[in-house]
Amino acid sequence: MQSGLWQAVLGEIELSISRGNFITWFKNTTLLKHDGSDLVVGVPNVFIKQQLERKYNLLVCETLEKNGIETPKVEYKIHALAGKQKNSNEDAQPLLKTQQVPTAKVSPLGPESRASNKLAHSYRQGLNERYTFENFIVGSGNELAHAACQAIAQNPGSRYNPLFLYGGVGIGKTHLIQAVGNTVLANKPDARVVYVSTEQFVQEFVDALRFKKNTAFADHYRGADVLIVDDVQFLAGKEKIQEEFFHTFNALHQANRQIIISSDKPPKEIPTLEERLRSRFVWGMSIDMQNPDFETRCAIVQAKAHNHGVELEHEVAEYLANNVQTNIRELEGALNQLLAFCDMRGLTPTLATTMSILGTSATRPKHISAKQIIEKTAKYFQVDINDIMSPKRDKDIVVPRQVAMYILRSELHLSFPKIARELGRKDHTTAIHSVEKIEKEIRTDDTLRSAVIEIKERLHV
Ligand code: ADP
Ligand code: MG
Repeated sequence: MQSGLWQAVLGEIELSISRGNFITWFKNTTLLKHDGSDLVVGVPNVFIKQQLERKYNLLVCETLEKNGIETPKVEYKIHALAGKQKNSNEDAQPLLKTQQVPTAKVSPLGPESRASNKLAHSYRQGLNERYTFENFIVGSGNELAHAACQAIAQNPGSRYNPLFLYGGVGIGKTHLIQAVGNTVLANKPDARVVYVSTEQFVQEFVDALRFKKNTAFADHYRGADVLIVDDVQFLAGKEKIQEEFFHTFNALHQANRQIIISSDKPPKEIPTLEERLRSRFVWGMSIDMQNPDFETRCAIVQAKAHNHGVELEHEVAEYLANNVQTNIRELEGALNQLLAFCDMRGLTPTLATTMSILGTSATRPKHISAKQIIEKTAKYFQVDINDIMSPKRDKDIVVPRQVAMYILRSELHLSFPKIARELGRKDHTTAIHSVEKIEKEIRTDDTLRSAVIEIKERLHV
């Protein structure tokens, strides 16, 4: 029986390579055809196809031989991906047809026309340098996504386009797709890399309509060499914006610009996502990211501690990895809490301390509201909360406001537009700058750092 043969082969391969590699490269393969020594193996995408051909074909053939197939010839074939063919009839429609904005924004955008391309933003906007491949720990769950992102970073726009990365919150999607952007820029500093959260894209689109800046908006996104759109599930139900996104997508894809999209679920599970966008998203490669396994979580927590200048004992790392299984963001949060606690008291993080801290944090109220954060921050700095919410720009108000923004980001992981709104502001770029500023300053400014730690502590009592 065909599937019996392939199951036997997979069983043996599973024993001869690492679990992570097996899951990454072999998990979703099937035997499509078997005719004497000719076999066709179905694989989910081109990336896996190439890896199997290059790296694993020998192993596959040897294992087949062991299972009675003489001199096997294996073909790897992509299957079950509908709509992969690029069709051109709907592509590169004018943006916002109703607004009469000219269409041909992509083709003339060679490097020479860059100067004339007046942009409202810088192309570095949105990328955070802290997200790199170097500090991303690879293990089961993220291995395939990591490999694909690296391939794209070295050769954007050429093969795996678009890349659609999906998986639960806090497992490293943003980290990886930002690492692509940072690497592309490191290799080619004048590359136009645009990273945008979907919420920001939506907000800018609405503003562009309101202030009649459609052309600048279109230029910005359609002029990208690499467009990275994070958390695309937020496009659900927003028809007009989906239409705009569709045209941006087509324009870029036609011009062989790289598109990278992340989402918390696969395209087919995003409710009210237009069919034509859905099919675009699976043109290239979709990759499912999983929460890393225990060993990888241990490695992550140790690497993060190392970055803070602390070498974590094995048992401490294991305790953390075991007790915080939800996602990497939470794991990092628990580690930061532990390090801050020990730092303030001049302790080294032992298993006993870790257990006592994680123990108490488990009984802490999970829900802290944005309002509580702003209130506690105002109280700590002894300023009036109404001043923080007001447009006042006095220094003694500005710093508390920035700290509040920073804590909203680091504790609640709010998006920048949300942070701006919580503080009664329309423009989210201030929120981005504030958070980045505080992030940077607490590394060197001891007073500021202990203020932030203290406020965070007070939130939890
Ligand atoms: P997502 O976008 O999937 O919600 P993020 O990319 O924001 O998740 O990741 C949450 C946090 O966990 C980030 O600080 C990120 O740096 C960290 N992280 C996630 N995966 C890894 C990893 N494999 N190695 C190192 N850090 C990781
Ligand atoms: Mg994210």
